[in-house]
Amino acid sequence: MGDNAIAVRSLIGGRWADPGSEHVDAIPDPATGETIATLSYSSENDVHDAVLAARQAFPAWADTPVPDRAQVMFRLKQLLERNLEELALLVTRENGKTLAESRGEVRRGIEVVELACGAPTLLMGTSLDQIAEGIDEELVRFPVGVVAGVTPFNFPSMVPLWMIPLALVCGNTFVHKPSQRTPLSATRIAELLVEAGLPDGVLNVVHGARESVDALLAHPEVDAVSFVGSEAVARSVYAAGAATGKRVQALGGAKNHLLVMDDADLERSVTALISSAFGNAGQRCLAGSVAVGVGSVADALVEELVGQAERLRLGPGVEPETDMGPVIREERRKELIAHIERGQQAGARLVADGRGAGPAEGFFLGPTVFDRVTPDMALWREELFGPVLSVVRARDIDEAIRVLNSSPYGNAASIFTTSGASAREFKRRAEAGMLGVNIGVAAPMAFFPFVGWKSSFFGDLHATGVDGVRFYTRPKVITSRWTLPARLDHSKPEGRGH
Ligand code: NAD
Repeated sequence: MGDNAIAVRSLIGGRWADPGSEHVDAIPDPATGETIATLSYSSENDVHDAVLAARQAFPAWADTPVPDRAQVMFRLKQLLERNLEELALLVTRENGKTLAESRGEVRRGIEVVELACGAPTLLMGTSLDQIAEGIDEELVRFPVGVVAGVTPFNFPSMVPLWMIPLALVCGNTFVHKPSQRTPLSATRIAELLVEAGLPDGVLNVVHGARESVDALLAHPEVDAVSFVGSEAVARSVYAAGAATGKRVQALGGAKNHLLVMDDADLERSVTALISSAFGNAGQRCLAGSVAVGVGSVADALVEELVGQAERLRLGPGVEPETDMGPVIREERRKELIAHIERGQQAGARLVADGRGAGPAEGFFLGPTVFDRVTPDMALWREELFGPVLSVVRARDIDEAIRVLNSSPYGNAASIFTTSGASAREFKRRAEAGMLGVNIGVAAPMAFFPFVGWKSSFFGDLHATGVDGVRFYTRPKVITSRWTLPARLDHSKPEGRGH
């Protein structure tokens, strides 16, 4: 164990404490395998106490004037800016991604806080005067209540910040259950929110894995659940939450296709493809994991991909010259290697083999590229969530769009082309919610929703943007009749008497 390994705490009703179950995980730095922290899981009682603390804090927080709630977000924004380097380093240490990627992640999280600062405008309702004689109608937004947030390991800072600022500024209280593999950033963000002046109990943090999530889902005092993670878990969280009448948004996995047309600027397109497929070591729900070479471009595409992939430098994310860090755990690395072996057995051509690359101590797997992958192979079908890119060859744009649309997932897709007509065809027909044109990672900014389709999303209202505000609020429509008692008399001439 590293000398500086810290014990991660939970936050319940404003009190930092050691979680109460017997289960303890060692949290390794994926670049070295060295233990950097220990995580005790929360007990069922801890989860219960956290939900009750959130319930108790709810009435006063919901009644706190909206501009005052927004002020907490302004202070949080300042604190996040001030501590950006420290937060980025924390992401790199617990997740393994490069410092540049971690800085980008924290920045994207801050953008949601900036959105939340606009709460007085975002939360405005609508009204219509005189919908009938003497009657007006207005729509007013109220918070939902206690929200549970469950987040994944791959964006330990950004995904919690997709949820917490918007949920809180809308007047909800929150119980966060971060990934048991990356609990450090979430705990630090909670500390900063306390420093920003958040009252006790408004944000609570519990730890653990499935049992803690099950306890949150079963709890009658939890009104809404925001979940981000893998497809199978998103699907079951959605079903379990909805079955007990909770409002749920559950963001799942992905298999994002990147179409390269034969009129594209090949070198620049491949640079974007490489960053999409191998950025964050491929552990990104917006990662391009299938490159579709359309028409005559395929041979040149594969050659350029292999050339650029082999130039990526693997290493610890803290070193400035590193292009790609490790994957999250040794078991994940082994699973990915098993996928690579199965891909070879299925007949795909392994043209860049990342096995054995990178420093021996960490959980490294180099960029791996398969050519001649077909839709009957697991390589095409399944989300592998690592630095493995599959190349599919398609005759024309129709076949390419057919392949992409036959994926069960629908998170993101991109086209690389110099033809406006091809781009338009793609924009209209691709069945995915986040599309890129000559962009490899089509991530919406905070003021737009994060729109997965098909098995990449379960629910109705997406995270961030106006969708996020609508998810975390319940509208009331109020119809009022107010007429002056003497109204009819006003039409009569005054002072004459009858
Ligand atoms: P995961 O599903 O293993 O875990 C996500 C969260 O759910 C964690 O907090 C975990 O403790 C909890 N969990 C795990 N198993 C559970 C179970 N059986 N019941 C209840 N809760 C459970 O996901 P991960 O490996 O941490 O993250 C990677 C996945 O997240 C990938 O599939 C990726 O595509 C997806 N992801 C999606 C988006 C998106 O916006 N769609 C964003 C980021 C990550």
